[in-house]
Amino acid sequence: MRIKFCGAAQTVTGSNHLITTNSGTTILLDCGLFQGRQAYIDQMNANFLFDAKQIDYLILSHAHIDHCGRIPFLIKQGFKGKIYCTSATKDLCEIMLLDTAYIQEKDNEWYNERRKRKGLDPIPPLYTVKDAERCLKFFVTAEYETVHRINDEISFQFRDAGHILGSASVVVFIQDRGKETRIGFTGDIGRWDRPILRDPETMTDVDYLITESTYGGRTHQNEPDDERELTELIQQICIEKGGKIIIPAFSLGRTQEIVYVLDKIYHHHKLPRIQVYVDSPLSTNATEIYRGHGECFDEEILKHIRTDPDPFGFGGLTYIQDVNESKALNTLREPCIIISASGMAEAGRVVHHIRNNIENDRNAILFVGYCAEGTLGARIRNKPEYIKIFGEEKKIRARIEIMDSFSAHADHDEILRFLNPLDRKRIKKVFLVHGEQEAQQKLADAMLAQGYSNIHIPNYGEAIDIDS
Ligand SMILES: [Zn+2]
Repeated sequence: MRIKFCGAAQTVTGSNHLITTNSGTTILLDCGLFQGRQAYIDQMNANFLFDAKQIDYLILSHAHIDHCGRIPFLIKQGFKGKIYCTSATKDLCEIMLLDTAYIQEKDNEWYNERRKRKGLDPIPPLYTVKDAERCLKFFVTAEYETVHRINDEISFQFRDAGHILGSASVVVFIQDRGKETRIGFTGDIGRWDRPILRDPETMTDVDYLITESTYGGRTHQNEPDDERELTELIQQICIEKGGKIIIPAFSLGRTQEIVYVLDKIYHHHKLPRIQVYVDSPLSTNATEIYRGHGECFDEEILKHIRTDPDPFGFGGLTYIQDVNESKALNTLREPCIIISASGMAEAGRVVHHIRNNIENDRNAILFVGYCAEGTLGARIRNKPEYIKIFGEEKKIRARIEIMDSFSAHADHDEILRFLNPLDRKRIKKVFLVHGEQEAQQKLADAMLAQGYSNIHIPNYGEAIDIDS
C-alpha cells in the first residue's frame, strides 16, 4: 500500500493525499486548491501528481477551498468516481465552487487581456462556472459516525471535526487478505467551546495517521469571551463615538459566528440596537446553508433557538447582495457594523469599506481571523502609520482591533488534545501535513514528547509505502 502527498505538504493549502491499496484501488483524501498569486502556484494547481482518470474515489473532509477547490478540475481531467462528504459539506461546496469558478473566469479574462497585449494566445481558466456546475452530481453524502461501506475492500467513517459546518475527520478502513488497515486523516481540526458547532470528536485508533499541523507551536488566546469583547467594542466605537466597525470576515464560518454572537448580544438586550450589515453575496448564501443544517449545531445554539428561532437574523441586521446597496453604505452617517469579505481584506467589498473608513478616528477595523503575509489585512494588522489602498496613501486613524479567538483552527494544545486518546503503540507512522515547516517541527517535537514515534513530514509529491 502507498500514500502519496500531492498537496498541503509543508504548506497550508492544496490539501490532497492519494492512497493506493495493494489491489490498485485509488482513494483521494481532499482535492484542494493551492492558494496564492505566484506563477508557480498556478502551475501546481494545473498539474495533478496523478492521472485523474485513474482515481476511483474522493473522500472530502470539508468545504474550504484549500480542501475542495480543485474538484471541478479533477472532473475536467477525467475523474468519474464518487465524491463522499457530509450533507452540509455538499451544500457548502456548491456555493464555494461556483464562487471560485466565477473568480477564476474573471481573473482569467484580465490575465488574457495582458497576454493579448504581449501578442500571446489566450489560455483557459483552471475551470469555469459550467465545470463547477457539472461536478455537483458526483457528490454522495454520508452522515457522521456511521461506517460507510464503499465495496468489499474499502469503508470509511466521518467524525465531526468541529471546524466549519459539515467538517469531518476521516478514518478509512482497508481490507486486504483478511487483515484490516485503518488510515486516519484529521482534515482541519476545529476547537472546543466555540459558538454554533459541536466540539471536535477526537480521533479513533488507527494504524497510520495523517494529521494537520497548522498551528503547531502556537496557542490562541486563553478562554476567549467573544460576547464581552464585542459588546465593549460596540459600546466604545458605535455608541460613545458614533462610529462604524468594519469587520473583514471569511464568508464561511467566521461571518456566521459573528452574526450569532451579535444576535445573542441583542437578544439579551446588552446594547441598544446598532444597524448591522453583512455585505457579501457569498456570506449571505453560506448563512442560508447554516440555517438549513441544524443537525450540525451544538447544545448551546439549539437551546438559544428555543427562544429565538433565527440565530442568524435579528431586527437591524441586513444581508446585502446587490452591489448598489453595498455602495450606498458609503454614504451612511449613522453608526453601524459592516461585516464583509474577504477575511484577509486582499479583495472583495471589504476593501472599499476599509478605504472609506480607515482615516476616521471614530471608526474601528476589527480583524477576527488569520491574514496571510502580504495581504492588506496583514499589513493593517501591523498598525503602520500609513497604508496604500487602491494606490492611494491613507493615514490610519481608525482603531485597529484583533480578536483571534474566532479562529476555526485548533491551536498547538488543541491538536494534541484531539489526538490524545490514540493508542501510540498501534500507530505505525504519523504524517504531518497542512502546516508550515516551523509549525510542523514544533508539533513533531511535542508529539515525540507525548510518546508518538515514527513521525514524518512528507515533501510535496513524496510517496511512502506502508504495510497493510
Ligand atoms: Zn478548513
